[in-house]
Amino acid sequence: MPTDTITIFDTTLRDGEQSPGCSMKTAEKLEVANALVDLGVDVIEAGFPIASPGDFEAVQMVSRQFGDRATICGLARCRREDVDRAWSALKDAERRRLHVFLATSSIHMEHKLKMDEQQIINTAVEMVKRAVDYCEDVEFSPEDAARTELDFLCEVVEKAIEAGATTINIPDTVGYATPSQFGSVFRHLKENVSNIDQAVLSAHCHNDLGLAVANSLAAVGEGARQVECTINGLGERAGNAALEEIVMALATRGDYFQCDTRVNTDKLFPTSRLVSSITGMKVQRNKAIVGQNAFAHEAGIHQDGWLKEPSTYEIMRPEDVGVPGTDLVLGKHSGRHAFGDRVKLLGYSIDDDVFQAVFKDFTALADKKKDVYDSDIAALIDNRIADTPDHWQLVSLHTSAGTGTIPTATIELQHDEQTIRRDAATGDGPVDAVFRTLERITEIDARLEDYEVRSVSRGKDAQGEVLVEIVVMGRHYHGKGVSTDIIEASALSYLKALNKVVADTQVNEIDA
Ligand SMILES: [Zn+2]
Repeated sequence: MPTDTITIFDTTLRDGEQSPGCSMKTAEKLEVANALVDLGVDVIEAGFPIASPGDFEAVQMVSRQFGDRATICGLARCRREDVDRAWSALKDAERRRLHVFLATSSIHMEHKLKMDEQQIINTAVEMVKRAVDYCEDVEFSPEDAARTELDFLCEVVEKAIEAGATTINIPDTVGYATPSQFGSVFRHLKENVSNIDQAVLSAHCHNDLGLAVANSLAAVGEGARQVECTINGLGERAGNAALEEIVMALATRGDYFQCDTRVNTDKLFPTSRLVSSITGMKVQRNKAIVGQNAFAHEAGIHQDGWLKEPSTYEIMRPEDVGVPGTDLVLGKHSGRHAFGDRVKLLGYSIDDDVFQAVFKDFTALADKKKDVYDSDIAALIDNRIADTPDHWQLVSLHTSAGTGTIPTATIELQHDEQTIRRDAATGDGPVDAVFRTLERITEIDARLEDYEVRSVSRGKDAQGEVLVEIVVMGRHYHGKGVSTDIIEASALSYLKALNKVVADTQVNEIDA
């Protein structure tokens, strides 16, 4: 049935990482890149190399480690130094792509770039040529294309292809387009650009009006053969088009789109979990495809129909996207082998060191709670995967609280493997006391922006998961902690966020 394969261009590590509070360390980016390769995406946009030394390093490491299994892409403005820097980050990848962009809407040209149409064309052509000199795979994006005057857009696109661009990406940078209008931009390009057949057309949509996926699919309907998207729809402001939604729309409605992708759809759910865990950006419960409720049938009449024949109310099966079907219960008598099978079934491929660590966590947990569910296991794995070496580690925690007493916390933290520091503080409650103590020890002045507790699985002995968001010097940081003790989970999540602050400051010191 499908006649064309759509190139899936993932920009979780570039556009997704630009969303507030979602910055990732290089080790975390490599974890995500590894998952993206397993997922089967075609192109990984790994970063914007000139933006910072950290970005450069991440693109270079992703290129070296995964450049033989996916095309690795680096972003550059239309400036010589940008293109050169992007190239030196990418050059070790076997498959690599340079992505240059320049705004073409009158609002951007006048106010941001202060360039006229001819200058825009000349600059775009010059920089595409520079990129082509380095590498045969070159993508050009006329930024804010959705608000660009169509005749001018055609002219820029034609000149960029003439200069050697092999992919032309049409970004709806501000999320302004609507589906039929965005589709008509692609039709117009197909009809009016003489050399359009020499390049792949691509869509890059933002979700400010909740239309990113709809607009991307409209573009596919009009001939786009690449879609740029992110896991969980991560991205600036309201985010980018969600990869899992694009892929499953094409998979489920192949009859309509006549297109497919190379994505292994049963890896979608584990990849979503991993990205959520690393960035601390939780997935909303009713999110399509990967939300907790995406496959839950609550209404009686639906349940009845679904039990008789799943296809009555189910257009996709949970296992198609890697949601574990049966929630088998493990306990303290479950051996290494049963545990290993479960880990595989949950969609994780983890190396031996991580497996050993997670198995130890599992046996410790099984001592504390009777039934260990899939969600518990996933939480343990996520915790270990996201566990990059931390500046501060929790050694011990003691709190006292109750009616008529002043809530107090006493904490010991290990600092860089040698020193142990301890302190105590009081607060409005035990959690507040814990946070104040952690701030005293780490000497970081943070403002708590968001605090949320939820249970990972069911039962009174369920593990609690705490998500925090803090603000330090105007920047947002997320942290997550899991424990059967909510106070401990709170401490771990806050510490995780504080460790990100430390990592960030260290990077900035290198910057300066
Ligand atoms: Zn974007």
